[in-house]
Amino acid sequence: MKERIPGFVKWIYPKRIWEAPAEDKSIYLTFDDGPVPQVTPWVLEQLKAFDAKATFFCIGENVQKHPDIFGKIIHEGHTIGNHTYNHLNGWKTGTDEYLLNTLKCQQVIQKNHPSKKPLKNPLFRPPYGKIKNRQAGELQKRGFKVVMWSIVSLDYDTRISPERCYHNVVRNARPGSVIVFHDSFKAEPNLLEVLPRILEVYSREGFIFKAL
Ligand SMILES: [Zn+2]
Repeated sequence: MKERIPGFVKWIYPKRIWEAPAEDKSIYLTFDDGPVPQVTPWVLEQLKAFDAKATFFCIGENVQKHPDIFGKIIHEGHTIGNHTYNHLNGWKTGTDEYLLNTLKCQQVIQKNHPSKKPLKNPLFRPPYGKIKNRQAGELQKRGFKVVMWSIVSLDYDTRISPERCYHNVVRNARPGSVIVFHDSFKAEPNLLEVLPRILEVYSREGFIFKAL
């Protein structure tokens, strides 16, 4: 997978969100695959230390297993997104099943969310970035905003070092970048080293970390 998304891909799928407006010095950190014990609470602590806000694309099954951690994410002012109930690969899944699985995740999110009103225009990120046009279309019809990214840290790749992971981010980040990290056990070794460095470097340069 490329660390940075080529411009033509964004042009092919203009309805998906790839990055945010670059008017100010903002960076959008996103964390996929949680919530899980240890890793997610640790991420929350790091973010708090830098007064940073982020977006968490949660797996429905994990929300169901760890509603307390899920609640903490919201309580600390971060944004929640949907990442399907079972981390489905859209390219290998029929549209009906994909839709049902995503709606099931949304139900769990809604049930565990302090807001009792239906959440409007929920954010959705396809696991592996793999989603068929029809699936994206069906979700968009139901009000979902499909969020891709501009930079992948590759934190989940156990073959790459924290150093390379860090450079993947700093080489490519600019105002408005949407950066993918993972609050998962697999990504933990890289994340533990890289996240504090990213927070520190960009805070020092006057960037603000915002939620989508
Ligand atoms: Zn994922």
